[in-house]
Amino acid sequence: MSSYPARAVVDLAAIRSNVAALREHAGGVPVMAVVKADGYGHGLVPSARAALAGGATWLGVAQVDEALALRTAGITAPVLAWLYGPGAPLEAAVAARVDLSVAAPWALDGVVVAARATGVTARVHVKVDTGLGRNGVPPAELADLLDAALRAQAEGAVAVVGLFSHLAFADAPDHPTVRGQAAVFADAVALAERAGARLEVRHLANSAATLTDASVRYDLVRPGLAVYGLSPVPQVGDPASFGLTPAMRLEADLALVKRVPAGQGVSYAHAYTTPRETMLGLVPIGYADGVPRHASGTQDRWGGPVQVGGRRLGVAGRVCMDQVVLDLGPDAAEQAGDTVVLFGSGADGEPTAEDWAQVAGTISYEIVTRVGARVPRVVV
Ligand code: PLP
Repeated sequence: MSSYPARAVVDLAAIRSNVAALREHAGGVPVMAVVKADGYGHGLVPSARAALAGGATWLGVAQVDEALALRTAGITAPVLAWLYGPGAPLEAAVAARVDLSVAAPWALDGVVVAARATGVTARVHVKVDTGLGRNGVPPAELADLLDAALRAQAEGAVAVVGLFSHLAFADAPDHPTVRGQAAVFADAVALAERAGARLEVRHLANSAATLTDASVRYDLVRPGLAVYGLSPVPQVGDPASFGLTPAMRLEADLALVKRVPAGQGVSYAHAYTTPRETMLGLVPIGYADGVPRHASGTQDRWGGPVQVGGRRLGVAGRVCMDQVVLDLGPDAAEQAGDTVVLFGSGADGEPTAEDWAQVAGTISYEIVTRVGARVPRVVV
């Protein structure tokens, strides 16, 4: 165990059971566990292994390098990489049997070159922009891209195995764009099939859609956030209501506890001043470790919540680069070395990543993915 005074404890059993729960939500549709961004901060390879053990049969990443890291670790399950630039190591990806998203002619050309160079048929999933306005070929250009892809298929360079898209408002389940994007996707599927594509998998649903919208499951669902036990729709339900358990607990050990008088300004700009004589506790974790500075406290309002000694407190004053301060109160029994939980499963009054997101004005995705590289991941 590292002697570093802060850690992100990652509960792999939670990831396994979350994937099992997602399989049930998906009603038998296979699950692609999204493990990009270092498994949403939980660790790429351990998260991927746990997700596969929980019943996922596919893995999804953004970058080709992330897919190759899975292969280097010995993971042989199907992996799809959907975001890469012209310099990406496509030959290595094709040789490693990584499925590649194609959303533009240059990407298809690159994949074809890589397939010819390696002698391996590249498996491609055509990504169509059904309305998110982000990655994906515009529907008006889909026919031409498919035509080129199917010509490359006839030559044996590629196999067009998938067609997919991503939703703009899946976290607002009744939003009219969800139906609109689903309709555009259905048209794209019909077009691909008419053009002669033999699609193995059509996929559209992220976590929110997997949990709330059975109509967009198609042949594969692609949950990310929910794999790690967080709710993508906190306004609809908390993790427990979906059978999910948050998999990360971020904690740090008090580095210093000291008595200060009333009127002591605390941390930069003295955004908080002690109202009475009290004990301050110094927690050695800050914005360089992913603690959002927007979750700083003020005189009138605690900042991001913590649990220490069974009590719920909040950050006093500004979040600094490496540390935050707590006002432990005049009678505090805490000592240097005692553990402070910033967020965890929510059990027994522990704050959650969602609580931090609310204080910082962001989403839980950002809270977990931004836990810094300096913070050791302790896998349990
Ligand atoms: N599919 C694609 C294409 C994505 O970009 C993402 C994440 O942004 C996901 C699936 C997973 O999304 P979520 O974490 O909301 O489930």
